[in-house]
Amino acid sequence: MNLAIVIPVYNESDAIYNNFTMIYNSLDKAGIPCHYMLVDDGSTDQTWLEISRLKEQYPHVSAIRFARNFGKEMAICAGLDHIEGDRYLIMDSDLQHPPTCVRDMMRLMDKTGANIVDGIKQKRGKESRLYRSIAKRFYGLLKTATGLNMDNSSDFKLIDERVVDAIRQFRESNLFFRGVVDWVGFQRTAYYFDVEDRQEGETSFSTFNLMKLACNAILSHTSKPLYLTIVGGGIFLIFALILGVQTLVNYFMGNAISGFSTVIVLLLMIGSMIMLSLGIIGIYISRIYDEVKQRPRYIISESANEKEMKAGRLY
Ligand code: UDP
Ligand code: MG
Repeated sequence: MNLAIVIPVYNESDAIYNNFTMIYNSLDKAGIPCHYMLVDDGSTDQTWLEISRLKEQYPHVSAIRFARNFGKEMAICAGLDHIEGDRYLIMDSDLQHPPTCVRDMMRLMDKTGANIVDGIKQKRGKESRLYRSIAKRFYGLLKTATGLNMDNSSDFKLIDERVVDAIRQFRESNLFFRGVVDWVGFQRTAYYFDVEDRQEGETSFSTFNLMKLACNAILSHTSKPLYLTIVGGGIFLIFALILGVQTLVNYFMGNAISGFSTVIVLLLMIGSMIMLSLGIIGIYISRIYDEVKQRPRYIISESANEKEMKAGRLY
């Protein structure tokens, strides 16, 4: 049973060498035959150099480098596109996904026959209170909007060949990996793990990035926000009808009063509703545009496996 491990790496030059060595030794000790795909997500520091060093030092390590930062989701997709195995594991490079859990995850897959072993965060490691509260709200919102239940879910997943084949068929450039794994179905089982604290460096996801990821997740899995605009319009129509009737009654009874403030408040409210609805529609249209352009999802600038580059498996 060959395990293919995909590790996205972005600006981790200080830590990647030691972290990978730890991962490698831990899995080696566990006696799991694996090979690795390190994906440098367009790092601006010395990460690629470190990865090349690792590649020379350890057998069964492949690596690709993006021409720029395409994001973790794309790095995972590229990794899965360029490696073959019987099973696939996705893990972070910062040791927050403990390699010591891998053997248990493999066993769980053997025992349950599941196609997906889903790493669920039990203890969430060191996070700011703001991060935690945003994460919590985000998952709540995601659940209401899309029905995807991803509370405490992570990218730490063991998936089998069939799931990877399904994921490889996705051609979306705005893809949310956890959402896609949920969407394809198959039999899944949860594996609870404690998130370790980040050893070195800092998270590369700022609050803004996380909000972007949240929008991405919602927009690529549901068009419900579009219906919200209809609901909002309906509510305003009801108000308009009531006010219209009242105005007419006043007019015929001869006591029509000049209500400037009402008019202004109504104008502002309706105006903002329209702007909001247009904004929501606009976001969806821009995403349709993104997909219609059919650009490559990522560009690989260097590969530690030149043969593959020449064979044209660039994206
Ligand atoms: N990462 C990536 N591209 C990015 C940001 C992050 O490939 O644009 C990688 C990063 O190197 C790490 C993993 O994704 O291996 C998780 O990132 P991080 O630890 O910054 O996020 P967090 O643990 O806070 O979710
Ligand atoms: Mg991390």
